[in-house]
Amino acid sequence: MTAKILDGASVAGAIKEGVKAEAEHLAERGLRPGLAAVLVGNDTASQIYVSSKVKTCQQLGLYSEKIELSEETTTEEMLALVRDLNSRDDIDGILIQLPLPGQIDSAKVLNSVDPAKDVDGFHPVSIGKLTLNEPGLRPCTPAGIMEMLDRYEIPIKGARAVVLGRSRIVGLPMSLLLLHRHATVTICHSRTVDLAAVTREADLLIVAIGRMCMVDRSFIKPDAVVVDVGQHKATDAHDLEKYFGDDAKRRAAFEKNGYTLTGDVNPREAIDAAGYFTPVPGGVGPLTIAMLMKNTLTAMKMRRGSNESIESIESIES
Ligand code: NAP
Repeated sequence: MTAKILDGASVAGAIKEGVKAEAEHLAERGLRPGLAAVLVGNDTASQIYVSSKVKTCQQLGLYSEKIELSEETTTEEMLALVRDLNSRDDIDGILIQLPLPGQIDSAKVLNSVDPAKDVDGFHPVSIGKLTLNEPGLRPCTPAGIMEMLDRYEIPIKGARAVVLGRSRIVGLPMSLLLLHRHATVTICHSRTVDLAAVTREADLLIVAIGRMCMVDRSFIKPDAVVVDVGQHKATDAHDLEKYFGDDAKRRAAFEKNGYTLTGDVNPREAIDAAGYFTPVPGGVGPLTIAMLMKNTLTAMKMRRGSNESIESIESIES
């Protein structure tokens, strides 16, 4: 049996089209959602992520502002910047690109963001609202996964869901989102005993552990829906062979770039064992940025929208 592919890239495209259409509608009323993206230091990966977020804003008609600060920035300077962004009416979302340099108190900075502008959904107020299932801004990666499952009409109510990983960014909010949709949720982590026996009970298995291709066939119930959140660069030719066999496209990418992207799930085994599977790349990754755009729009509507907009948020949330 070969698993059907959950095409996160095309779902992300549809989400972005929806945001673009709403942004055009809002522009007719003189409203433009705005995102401030704060980048501290010279980390190459962070620079790429922030540039791609700003570029996506531009493509969708959202206002964006990239704020670049030096590696030596202090906590006090960050707090002053966030205070300023909190007070600006044209900024609906504030994104602090992580990781911040070691001298900065990251928790203090993140907690100083106005929860109404917390488009990453990391603020304790946002997490509290998620826990209580109250309307609010949800972390982008798990919210994107929910959108993908819904668009593929994957049953959630009553399903046995196992979330592998309990991070604040992915595993924990993912578990809560599934719970609120009436899945029976088990959360696994590094101290779970007999992990594969637990994950084999899952109709819906979400994997976010940060361990390259660790989840093999023995973790997967036949026909399960498997969502792979992991992102790794496989740089070893043995791994290329082991996980992708003689896949010519992969081999060409590996030879060109010196690596190929993989997830936390062994793709060769998942494709045989699962009913549905998200590829890496092209699965969960593109959903995260699409949801950041959607969250910026939602934040704008919640903070400075009309009643008409608020009604449409409630329909997004339900
Ligand atoms: P994280 O903060 O490192 O959390 C990993 C979680 O997995 C922890 O809860 C940890 O358990 C658990 N874990 C680690 N090793 C394990 C093992 N051998 N057995 C069982 N559980 C284990 O990672 P994260 O931020 O959630 O990210 C997970 C992966 O998703 C990474 O590969 C990351 O790059 C990727 N990611 C992708 C996107 C995207 O947009 N596609 C977004 C975010 C993250 P403990 O709590 O017990 O330590």
